[in-house]
Amino acid sequence: MIMKRPNIILISIDTLRADHLSCYGYERITTPHIDRLAGEGVLFTNAYSTAVWTPPAHASMLTGLYPNAHGVIHQNRLGDDFPTVAEILQRSGYQTAGFVNNSQVGELVGLSRGHDDFYEIWRGLSKEQIVKRAIYNARRFAGYTDHGASETNKLIFHWLTKKWKRGKPFYMFIHHIDAHNPLKAPRPFRFKYLTESLRKQVDMAKIWKIADNPLVCFTDDLELNEAEIEAVTCLYDEEINYVDCKIGELVDYLAHMKLLDHSLLIVTADHGEHLGEHNLYSHVASLYEPIVHIPLILRYPRELASEAASDQPVQHIDLLPTILEVGGSDEGYKLNGAGRNLFECLNGEEASRILFAEWEGRIPYFVRNKLQGVRNHPLVERFRNQLWMARWGSFKLIADSKGHFELYNLDEDPQEQVNLYGKASTIFDQLRNALEDWRNSGASPVTSRSYDYEDETLRKHLKALGYL
Ligand SMILES: [Zn+2]
Repeated sequence: MIMKRPNIILISIDTLRADHLSCYGYERITTPHIDRLAGEGVLFTNAYSTAVWTPPAHASMLTGLYPNAHGVIHQNRLGDDFPTVAEILQRSGYQTAGFVNNSQVGELVGLSRGHDDFYEIWRGLSKEQIVKRAIYNARRFAGYTDHGASETNKLIFHWLTKKWKRGKPFYMFIHHIDAHNPLKAPRPFRFKYLTESLRKQVDMAKIWKIADNPLVCFTDDLELNEAEIEAVTCLYDEEINYVDCKIGELVDYLAHMKLLDHSLLIVTADHGEHLGEHNLYSHVASLYEPIVHIPLILRYPRELASEAASDQPVQHIDLLPTILEVGGSDEGYKLNGAGRNLFECLNGEEASRILFAEWEGRIPYFVRNKLQGVRNHPLVERFRNQLWMARWGSFKLIADSKGHFELYNLDEDPQEQVNLYGKASTIFDQLRNALEDWRNSGASPVTSRSYDYEDETLRKHLKALGYL
């Protein structure tokens, strides 16, 4: 009997660090709906990003390649030679749709390719939608609007009822931005965790400034005390709790349409966020755990057990081969990426695998604009310093372009405080050599510059996210 090919739903929640989900052991119950999905599927405890900001990490997710192979770094677009998972599935008969809330995951960087329908929700309402705009503005004034998660669900539900041709399996890519700054969850989620008594202990004008764009901690030399860090953390957790609620709505809708159990559902994040660890904020110039350790949950009752957890080391590059396996396409194996099929990982012994990640040495636009061309500023040097990570078992090596090394044993030192460089030479040599080989394996892909700042809507959007 030929099994009908399943639907595939890939959800990426921008800027969601693993340790702030309750199913990853966080003390607040931030993610009850994602927790439920994890309880009905497999939760990967050792899932890692390949890069620490949106375009390269998503390009890895959608092409199965590391950034040094796909080339979507700085402001580069994905080259035409690299097929996306949507393109491959489309070729093999899937109906494909994308719903994204960040220009950095869309047409601008070439990641819209292969979708029959692609919704760049960040563009907002058009000038013609006068009534809708008036309602939106009134809700915004009252503090009830979000950063797109609600509209995303509406569009998905509409697509499923009006556009999806039921004879075909579908692939859906969903991207949420709510946990990314600006951190301002809609009511009643706002102040769910940031209590009145904590608000009274801190300077809320300073907290809102950081919640709006944490890069001000670098440009304005802001230091945060414990209460201030806790306040910003509360605002971050409120956004997570909100987006989790929206995922709950989507899952309920899929169940109502009797689609949930016939689908492979994947929930992950592109990267995490620093909340004061190592005196760092935002997601730049770091490969520490708060940034690279991401959530990854697979729900697929047809083949996966429920209430399962796996400590196999896995990465974004594994998603494409996994999705193509489930989707019945063998193209994934011809692409020569380093990714592995997660179903095989779950059944095999993979403990010897080394994971890699990089910070490409980019000065965030916001920082560059604030510096207004001041050369030799320490921040320029700081952000231009490239970083590379190799992680094997509990050991993690971070190397930079100035020749510095940090080596940590995460089992004994999860906060990455004790640098073992010079004290564990066998492990160090092994990881440094592996890192060299990996860096030399880069394909120098052909890419092109993508940004056109003349687009006013794009400029507004990039500014709202703190890019400009
Ligand atoms: Zn991102």
